[in-house]
Order: sequence, then C-alpha cells, then structure tokens
Amino acid sequence: MCGIIGYIGDKDALPILLKGLRRLEYRGYDSAGVAVIESGKITRVRSVGRIDKLTKELKNNELHGHIGIAHTRWATHGGVTQENAHPHVALDGKLALVHNGIIENYRELKNQLGDIKFESQTDSEILVHLIASFYNGDLKQAVTNALRHVRGTYGLAVVYADNQDELIVARLGSPLVVGLGEGEYYVASDATPILPYTKKVIFLEDGEIGRITKDGLETTNLSDELVTKCVEEIEWTDEEAEKQGFDHFMLKEIFDQPQVFQDAIRGRYNLTEGTAYLGGLNMTDEEIHSIDRIVLIACGTASYAAMIGKYAFERLANISTEVDVASEFRYRNPIINEKTLVFAISQSGETADTLAAVREAKRRGAFVRGIVNVVGSTIARETDGGTYMHAGPELSVASTKAYTNMVAILLLYAIEFGRTRLITLATGQRLLNSLREIPKKMEIILQQADKIKVIAEKYMYFKNALFLGRGINFPVVLEGSQKLKEITYIHSEAYPAGEMKHGANALLAPDFPVIGIMTKDQLYDKMRSNIEEVKARKSPIMLLATQGDEQAKELTDDVIYVPDTMELLEPLLNTIPLQLFSYYIAVLLGRDVDRPRNLAKSVTVE
Ligand code: GLU
Repeated sequence: MCGIIGYIGDKDALPILLKGLRRLEYRGYDSAGVAVIESGKITRVRSVGRIDKLTKELKNNELHGHIGIAHTRWATHGGVTQENAHPHVALDGKLALVHNGIIENYRELKNQLGDIKFESQTDSEILVHLIASFYNGDLKQAVTNALRHVRGTYGLAVVYADNQDELIVARLGSPLVVGLGEGEYYVASDATPILPYTKKVIFLEDGEIGRITKDGLETTNLSDELVTKCVEEIEWTDEEAEKQGFDHFMLKEIFDQPQVFQDAIRGRYNLTEGTAYLGGLNMTDEEIHSIDRIVLIACGTASYAAMIGKYAFERLANISTEVDVASEFRYRNPIINEKTLVFAISQSGETADTLAAVREAKRRGAFVRGIVNVVGSTIARETDGGTYMHAGPELSVASTKAYTNMVAILLLYAIEFGRTRLITLATGQRLLNSLREIPKKMEIILQQADKIKVIAEKYMYFKNALFLGRGINFPVVLEGSQKLKEITYIHSEAYPAGEMKHGANALLAPDFPVIGIMTKDQLYDKMRSNIEEVKARKSPIMLLATQGDEQAKELTDDVIYVPDTMELLEPLLNTIPLQLFSYYIAVLLGRDVDRPRNLAKSVTVE
C-alpha cells in the first residue's frame, strides 16, 4: 500500500522527497505529506489529494533541511483528511513518523498509552506516540522497544528533530529499500524513487530495524542482534521498478494475494471463540438474529465473489441469501425491508449502479453495509458501516487481489453470523484454522506459474472456451471465464456442470475447450462424470484437481494441482490458477493486459 520516501545527506531534502512522491504515485494514494528537519525543528506539511496540491502548499514554505521523510497515504484506518495524512508527530512535534501498513492492535495500544491527545483517527499515530513513550535519547532503541509491542504490518521511517544525522527505518510485511549514494542515503517503499540517484540498494527484511546516518546503515533485529546486509545492484528501468520486477501490474497483484489476504483477515477473528469480529458491522447480536434475508449487491467480478458469500451465509448461518447485480436491482421492485441486511460490494466504492442500489435499499429501511477497498469512497461514506478489504491499490483493470479479499471478508461475516446463529465452536475454529493456512497454500499455487504458462501456450489458439464447475466452484468458474474474456478477448462462458445436458453440450467439439474444476469436495463424483462426458465428445480439457488425485490425469494431460482445503474455502485457492491461465494467454496474444480495451477500473457511470 502507498509509499514512503526518506532522505539523509548533504543535498536539500525537499525536492528529492517531492520527486520521490511523484514516482510513487503509481501505487495509488489519497493524501500526501512531508516533514523536514531544519535547525532542530521539524516542519510538516500535509494535504489531501494529489502531490501537485502538496507542492503548491509547500511554495509558501522555504524548507532547506538535509533530512526528511514523506508519504503517500492510502487510507486504511480513518477517513481521507489532512489530520489523518502522514507524517504523524509526537513529543510536541519533535518526533515524526511515516508508516505503511496496518497496526492491528492499535486500540489496545491506545488504551495503554493513556492520557494522550490524538489528532487523527489513524492506527499510525498510535505508533509514533508509542515510540515517544520509549524514547530516552536512543531513537533506534525506542523504535525497537515499541515494535516489540506491535501486531500488524509496517514499513516505517522516523526522525527526531534534535538529531539531524539519524533516520530510523523498520519493516515487517510492508517493503522498505535503502538506496546508497555518495555520503547520502535514500529510503523508499520500492526502488522507483531511488533509481535516479543510485542503483545500489539494500532490501530490508521482515523484523529488521535500521539506523541510517551519513556514515552508513546499521541493521539489527527485534532481539537487538546485529544483522549483516548485502548491497545489491539493480538494473531495473523505471517501469520495471514500479511493477517490482513483474511484467504487468496484474501479475504483481496476483502474486500479492498471499500477503493481502492476511491483511484482510488479520485482527478480525478470535480463534479461542471460533468466531470473526468485523468491527464496522455496527449491529448488535439481537439485530443479527432479527435478519431473515441477506442481499448481496455487486457488479462483475464482485458479483461472483458475492455468489460465494451466498453459499457461505446459507451453509454456516442458515440465512436465505440472494445475489443481485446492481444494474438490475435498481430498476426492479426488490423485496427489501427492515429485516434485510444488504451488503454492497465494490472494489472502488464508487460503482455507480451499486451506489444507486445502496440508496434504494436504505430508502426501504434495510441494514446497508459496504465491503469496499478504497477508504473514504462514496459507498463507504453512504453505508451505515461495513468493512474495508485491505487489498491495497489495485491498478490492473482486471481485478484479482480485491476479489480474493472480498471472498475473505464474506467468509468472515458468514463465520460471525454462523457462530451467533448456528455453527459450533469446533466448526468455527476449524474454519478459522483453515483460513490461516490459505496464504501458504496460495504460495504453492503461485510456484506453479511456469507450468500454467505452458498449458496456456496450448490453449491460446482457441476462439472459445467453456468453464465448468459445481457447488461452491460454480462462482469460481464464472470468475475464471470473466477473466479470460476481459483480458484475452476470447469468447468464453461458464456453466454449472450439471446444466450441460440442457444445452451447452451441443457446443462440445475438438475446437471448443473446457476448463473444469474437479477438486475433492462433496460433488467430486458428479463433476468427474461430467468431465467424462466432455472427454467422450473430444473437447480439449484443462482441469483443476486436488493434490494427489491421480485419477485426474486419466482425463487429460493438462491438470493443475491445488492444495486441499475445506470446501467453503476452495474459491480462495481455485481462482488463482485461472487468473494465471488468463494472464498468460493474454500475454501470449499480445493483449494490453493491464488496460484491456473498452473497460475501466472504476465504473462511475451507469
Ligand atoms: N494504516 C495507515 C493509515 O491508514 C497507513 C496506511 C498506508 O499504508 O498508507 O493511515
């Protein structure tokens, strides 16, 4: 998420910081700020909106310090306001911090800090005050001590007004790179803003804390042990650096999934009680009990995530659930009342049809909650609560990581409602334990990217494709088919496999391939029969199967194996090979992967 840039050296820091912020813009942000130390005093300027606006505000400030930190914020906690923009300060403005990531236990820490007047609603401001509470002359030690109390993720840079020769950095979960110039150092969230000055960098690893002075970088871990770091030489072009070495944003975002999935679930469940807690729901247990229907309103990929939510709500909480495509909902006479809970799901939080549906549902007296990625977006503001996806900025038009996090949040809600209404402690715990294993299993799938590319090379020449799945995997094939259309322009359809005999079987032929999900769940035998039928009609078949299922190989050579998990969680894994499959075909066909024709990222018109 968002970006950090810092400088310490002999040059004027401000122009370097501003240029750095501009080069970090591609990461997505909603506000920005800088802090520079000059003559033992920190001057901080922050503003909502573009870097140009910040630059204009800085025109009135003649700032000539040689050390400073700056930040582009992509809000996760607290709205998009100037007070919430970083840097945050403590100790009467003498200590300044920029932070990327999420401090999960910020509420507990805030209580422990006691009588402090906070000026923002962010989790990050708690951190700067926590560091201040440990400060007695050694800034690095204060940061280390503070971080020992923190749960969550951080990339951070900290400066103290009385020491113009010291910049402290730390990383856990959010990236941080140190650039080595001649008697000067740069820090940044990625190499992009550093590349104009130096190709020599040190990548900080999780759990490392660095003290940067003009003489060098000293790195230790959270146990105060010294860590020896290697200097690396990077030869990336600017564009390569933005994509962190990946060829496209879409591929980077597919590979981001294990990390952002953790951000979606972190701090939102309690294993001992076997339940989830989504703070923004703003509903009492009685209100949850009073609900007799859930309506999930979404468009496109979000509507396929919503269908997975439907399965989960019905199975775990026994609540009748419908998925409504927003553009249809708004022009019908939807049966919505004060016993209906409506979730509006939108990555951007600005989708015009979904927003119109939110307003209609509110008019009819329903509980209306949002599940959005962009903090402070219109849907987030107009609903009476909800949950942020924490997927970070998604730049590729075709959604990948936001989809995964939508599914993650719907599953958490289903577990929470399930525990208040139906499922046992043991079931709740089993689901949560399995959720916690998902990132590791996602990694196993991502490691097969090269194999999926080889399969994509075989399928890239087809003009059509048919995706088949059953049960919880039916929405997954809808999403798989959507991805293929969106970025390759190949015509594709998705069917529940049991429906084939009612029409789609007529399409089967050697030039009409089938992509099927045949993982080991309650419908495995049925799905296997469906695939046998496809094979008999000589359609080429690509299959997703559960690791160890040797029978899948009897049906086709093109099998992608995925790790086993609980049935309800399968979509979190099964979607990923389909994303990679479409991605590689699009690349092989020379498509504009990140910006497919005729599509926009945020659909703000009807
Ligand atoms: N959680 C912090 C906030 O909302 C940092 C967000 C970011 O990484 O930009 O301010």
